[in-house]
Amino acid sequence: MLTIPTRAEVVRQVRERGERVAAVLPIHYPRALLRAHGFQPMEVWGPPSVSVVEGNAHFQAYTCGIVRNATSFLLQGGLDAADVIVIPHTCDALQGMASVLKDFIEPRQPVATIYLPRAARSADRGFLQAELHRLAQQLAEISGRSPSGGELMAAIEREEEADRELGALAEHRSEIDLGDRDYFTLLRAREFLPAESFIELARSAPRGRGPDRGVPLMISGIVPEPMDLFDHINEMGAHVVADDLACCSRRLYRPGSASDPFERMADALLGGPLDPTRGSPILERARAVASRMAQCGAKGLLVYDVKFCEPELFDVPLLRKHLTEAGLSMLHVEFDMTGSIAQQTLTRIEAFVEMLQ
Ligand code: SF4
Repeated sequence: MLTIPTRAEVVRQVRERGERVAAVLPIHYPRALLRAHGFQPMEVWGPPSVSVVEGNAHFQAYTCGIVRNATSFLLQGGLDAADVIVIPHTCDALQGMASVLKDFIEPRQPVATIYLPRAARSADRGFLQAELHRLAQQLAEISGRSPSGGELMAAIEREEEADRELGALAEHRSEIDLGDRDYFTLLRAREFLPAESFIELARSAPRGRGPDRGVPLMISGIVPEPMDLFDHINEMGAHVVADDLACCSRRLYRPGSASDPFERMADALLGGPLDPTRGSPILERARAVASRMAQCGAKGLLVYDVKFCEPELFDVPLLRKHLTEAGLSMLHVEFDMTGSIAQQTLTRIEAFVEMLQ
């Protein structure tokens, strides 16, 4: 069993180092840029156990739970420790959240945005580099800290090392001696631990023969909340051998080689794993998912989607078609971002597992 610091403990350590906290909405953003400017990123993927009344007042009923819960969390004081709120333009819902925060809610903290191109041509790379420069300027105005090129490159290399460790955990899942819930809790510690702490934690994960009980599944989607999903999956007679989750494996950025730090950060963000929120071609993504399933022996793909997540939904029909043609099974379920999973959802997953047995 690993000991992972809580978010509150990390905030306290950050303060003791004289640094600041950035609350960051999903999915892709330049961690190294934040760290070099003295901000520890604390990602906000909901959270699920929050009353959504306040958030509901600001968004249409068909807005996803991440945006409604995160806004409620902010309004309830859950992000009080943050010195800045960073909102990447992941989707229309998050773009809408940034506008609502800036124009209506006007939180105490400044709101910084970053626009991510949906392709990786040289014009897109140039655009993203300009975006990163714009964000750097905003962060420097807030923190009063302008890192040198060397400091920025050191932060980039530290994040690359943490991503390598994350990649090793994902690639060698079968050798990590942790149950599914503990394993994904470890991967998700990357959402709030400083890179150097995550590296240490990942290296201390118990190695040996990992759990291989029951039907092997691969899980896809944005975020597996609430985390007792994994307990349910295990009780149904299945286990998770790989993931295509936005909060985990879709952020296995490759280490870069450019000597310019902004070029290197842009290359990493645009060259990451295929992801519908980055506009990745569906056929390429479907082939990559099928290949990963074959590689890790997954018998089925569980697409576990936050309700009303448009980028995910766009891919579902063609993903299903391609996997079916490849002889692979897929179940798509949607869930409300709450503290418990609906019985109907669990029943559908259970029936899927039974079918695969
Ligand atoms: S769940 Fe989907 S729609 Fe909601 S913020 Fe994430 S990517 Fe956007």
